[in-house]
Amino acid sequence: MNSQFAVIGLGLFGSALCEELDRQDAQVLAIDIDETKTRQVATFCSHTIVADASDEATVAELGLTDYDIVFVAIGDSLETSILITLILKEAGVKKVWVKARDKFHAKILQKVGADKVINPEWDMGRRVAQSMLDNRLFDYLELGHNMVLTEFVIGLQQNGRTLGDLHLLQQSEFQLLAIKRGETLHNVLTGKMEMQLGDILILAGNKHAIDHWLDTL
Ligand code: ADP
Repeated sequence: MNSQFAVIGLGLFGSALCEELDRQDAQVLAIDIDETKTRQVATFCSHTIVADASDEATVAELGLTDYDIVFVAIGDSLETSILITLILKEAGVKKVWVKARDKFHAKILQKVGADKVINPEWDMGRRVAQSMLDNRLFDYLELGHNMVLTEFVIGLQQNGRTLGDLHLLQQSEFQLLAIKRGETLHNVLTGKMEMQLGDILILAGNKHAIDHWLDTL
């Protein structure tokens, strides 16, 4: 059976979550106390409910324990997001993921049992900083479930090293699919093949494993 998700709070973040989940064909229930918000997401979200998620009885009626992940995306009121997290965990919801406004908010959410706390501004700031520092990767395509397709350009440090030196052919969690050299695509790859400046390696697989490999260069 497909995973089922619920999103509580349909501000900018919550609606973006619903839209992307729906785009990826996941089943998503969108909940907001404000009817205008549920109407706004109704164009791309098939299941919407107007409800106050800080009310225990309402939460029990919604049957949220059947959902795989319930996301609380309420940034404007710390009190409400903390209370809803507590109610969801006490009701026995399997995984409660919550958007935090800052580190203090994140800490309280963890204390009341949030399974994952997301701090979008902080996370995005770090990611942007990483991409500002890293000009090696481009064309980064998310394939879902932590899988990515990406390209890596051979720079001065890797110039002249073989694929064997770079430990590229014995990776278990990602694969080197091909090497683009000028206008030629090489897909018969051996450990002895020497890299040349500007070669483009096409990699696919687990993002963390690729990041880890990049750190070793
Ligand atoms: P963002 O920062 O992502 O734009 P907001 O904090 O502005 O998010 O939006 C929070 C949303 O949560 C609003 O649409 C608001 O109506 C909704 N909301 C607030 N309290 C509750 C509640 N008790 N139950 C359900 N939805 C709520």
